[in-house]
Amino acid sequence: MVFRVGIGHDTHRLAPGRQLWLGGVCIPYSMGLVGHSDADVLLHAVTDAILGALGKGDIGEWFPDTDPANKDIDSRVLLRAVLDQALGDGDRLMNLDCIVFAEAPKLGPYKAAIRQSLADLLRLPVTRINVKAKTGEKVGPIGRGEALSAEAVVLVEVAEDH
Ligand code: MG
Repeated sequence: MVFRVGIGHDTHRLAPGRQLWLGGVCIPYSMGLVGHSDADVLLHAVTDAILGALGKGDIGEWFPDTDPANKDIDSRVLLRAVLDQALGDGDRLMNLDCIVFAEAPKLGPYKAAIRQSLADLLRLPVTRINVKAKTGEKVGPIGRGEALSAEAVVLVEVAEDH
């Protein structure tokens, strides 16, 4: 058996007039994340972690923000495309650990829903998914409530050491 680890990180700016999507879950809040897609910062970090484990680049190469086809696209579609196209036959995603950095809204009440959403998207039991939430301790762009960030780590068992 050969295992590969991958890491993903992403940041998006908060602004009024946008829905807030995190891990494929719409979170009630006065602001949402700004981006070419739905700007789901957590799904972008997860997608990048999977691509990283497979040695297949990053989300920007797969889905350029200059492509009108990706405008306001649901990031679940991007993640599913990577699972379908990048994950080889016999490759198995083992687990995901992730962190969302948000001063507000408080994510405690939504962590279980986000965990379930990620499990459904990755077709894994929820026990293989972990979701953590951290504030920015009132400092920096996260702490001032100007942006949200996410980090993700995945382990993939690859069928061949390609
Ligand atoms: Mg992004």
